[in-house]
Amino acid sequence: MREIWVDPQPLGTRVVYLVETRSPQEEVELDALFAEMSSYTRVCQLCKGKLMSFVLQVEDSDTSILDETDYILRANYAFVVTQRSFDMLIYRIVEELCRDTGSELLPLPHCNICGDVEPFPNTVVSLSDDDGSVVASRSYCVKCTAQTAAPSNKELIRSLLDADEHDFSKLKNVELVRLPSHKHPIRFRVR
Ligand SMILES: [Zn+2]
Repeated sequence: MREIWVDPQPLGTRVVYLVETRSPQEEVELDALFAEMSSYTRVCQLCKGKLMSFVLQVEDSDTSILDETDYILRANYAFVVTQRSFDMLIYRIVEELCRDTGSELLPLPHCNICGDVEPFPNTVVSLSDDDGSVVASRSYCVKCTAQTAAPSNKELIRSLLDADEHDFSKLKNVELVRLPSHKHPIRFRVR
């Protein structure tokens, strides 16, 4: 293990859209609509098929895009459900509706501590090998990141890896030496 770095991810308002499509053509149109949106906001697709579902995350100051999306969807599709937050409850509803409609649930990132599905992880910790290649990339949700309540970045890394579902105990006694930021804001050398 050579380096460990943390990439904190931006937070924001999340919205889940569930749309029932009446034809393959509508699926294609929806794909195109959300693909276009992904150029200016974060988009994660939950499922595809007769039921299409997407999660959007926008900066709190820029929620007008959500109203606009709402308007476009409701004007063009027969069945639209919107929820202004993402949680496991809505995810289970999507899961169930996928089963009922024969739609395909897509693989999503999950928190490596609590196991919850997490479309936009709050913190990503990466570990690189001696040749610089990334050997592990671990994702954590907002809740688990907040629960560490670590007073420093070094302790944040230690408590996240300590709580991780994978056994990182071999890193318990290594020394972490802060490195210049380079591409990642919070970077340490493992010694
Ligand atoms: Zn979590």
